[in-house]
Amino acid sequence: MGQNLPAGPLAVYLHFPFCLKPCPYCSFFKRPWSRSAHERYLQALLQEAELWEKRFGRRVPASSLYFGGGTPSLLKGEEILRLCECFDLKQRDRGTEAFYSMRNERTRGNDKQRWSSSGHDKGMYDSEFAGRLDFNQHARNPDCSDGHAGKHDYSEVLLEVQSPFRRRDKRITCLGALSSKVADCDPVTRNALRITSFPEITLEVNPIQITPDFVKGLRTTPVNRLSIGVQSMRDEALGYLDRAHKAASIPERIRLLRDQGYDNISLDLIYGLPGMDLDDLKRDLDAFVALGPEHISCYLLTLDEDSELARAIAEGKSPSLPDDESCALQYELICQVLKKAGFIHYEISNFARPGFEGRHNLSYWHSSPYLALGTAASGWLPPKRYCNPASLDEYYRLIEAGELMPGAETLSPAQSEADEIMMGLRLLEGIDLKNFETRHLHPFERGRERELERLIELELLERGDGRIRLSERALFISNAVIGELL
Ligand code: SF4
Repeated sequence: MGQNLPAGPLAVYLHFPFCLKPCPYCSFFKRPWSRSAHERYLQALLQEAELWEKRFGRRVPASSLYFGGGTPSLLKGEEILRLCECFDLKQRDRGTEAFYSMRNERTRGNDKQRWSSSGHDKGMYDSEFAGRLDFNQHARNPDCSDGHAGKHDYSEVLLEVQSPFRRRDKRITCLGALSSKVADCDPVTRNALRITSFPEITLEVNPIQITPDFVKGLRTTPVNRLSIGVQSMRDEALGYLDRAHKAASIPERIRLLRDQGYDNISLDLIYGLPGMDLDDLKRDLDAFVALGPEHISCYLLTLDEDSELARAIAEGKSPSLPDDESCALQYELICQVLKKAGFIHYEISNFARPGFEGRHNLSYWHSSPYLALGTAASGWLPPKRYCNPASLDEYYRLIEAGELMPGAETLSPAQSEADEIMMGLRLLEGIDLKNFETRHLHPFERGRERELERLIELELLERGDGRIRLSERALFISNAVIGELL
């Protein structure tokens, strides 16, 4: 098919489209869960992974896996493990500037365990693994707050490595010579010294499924990041959204996960609900912060016309959505509260503790290639974009026929460029102008000089440090601002 497959590891998304019951605000592709549908679908996903393996000529090297849905937490631990084993999760080459063998000391308890991505010794994990240091100019960041200005080098760092299960126990000595601790550095330096010793593996989780049995099953998998659909910590809002969990149950469920060593937890919060005011939102934000997550994603409630809630609003059975001005104020409050609580606002809707930015989603925002498996999942293997059918029958038919990337569209250079701008400006760090020019063989400004000048004058865009980014006041109206540049 004339497709150049990426040489290095890539982000992989796996879609699981079944839900126990539909939420009235949701327009994602989803189907009611049943055991038989679940099993049929799992087989198809495994088959699709096998087809990709054949296409690549080896197990697909994954820099991240993301189980999204739907409700992928309906998958059993052993099923998640089988899917993970379809991918090469231990990259040891390509683009690697420094490569280390490291010892991972696990100190907690006596239960020495071993996990292997290629083996089947479930419930076990490595005591030794290899890591890679992503190194760039920030590693010599002169502003490092620990006084090591200009000194950071490969041989000078003590790396805190994220492992499949635990992070806090992982102090790794790197090359023996140590003069600084990454963990004590400022966020920029720490992130620049991002280590990819093991891919980030995220599972979206419905809170009601976090039970001791579920967590036990999860521990047999290499999942190391959980994205939990909490949505609100007020029962009134959860009732309106027809969610099955109660706010009071969330701390205990998170404690269950913490007790088992899960220390990369992301929570989803929805704002802009009908009837929601700033006090309600503040209560939600305070409660979310008190739960101590590493990451919070905040989504503005938007309704497709055909959603149950949109119909209820149209029929006068529900209050209306707040107006744009109220939503903008809510967004402003989110930014204020979360930044004050120590989160880095790194993407329009996403906030992370330093070092816990979602690596999988960063691949999307950086326009890096990614593979997507499952019905209705879309992938990007430059220059082709594809979307699997939003129909289970059609998806099964294609997989049986051994077809991948149905109806893939080859993007023109102008389309790729527009996509990159749309995605890149979502990041608060913005777009690196030099990289952009290298990739597109012309400066970012070409053809958009006037718009750029105007948007900078209006203080909607900022330019500096070789980057172009949205200003703070443009974040809430990002689509309109970015649209001016396309
Ligand atoms: S919001 Fe999530 S759980 Fe609810 S119907 Fe949509 S995909 Fe399913």
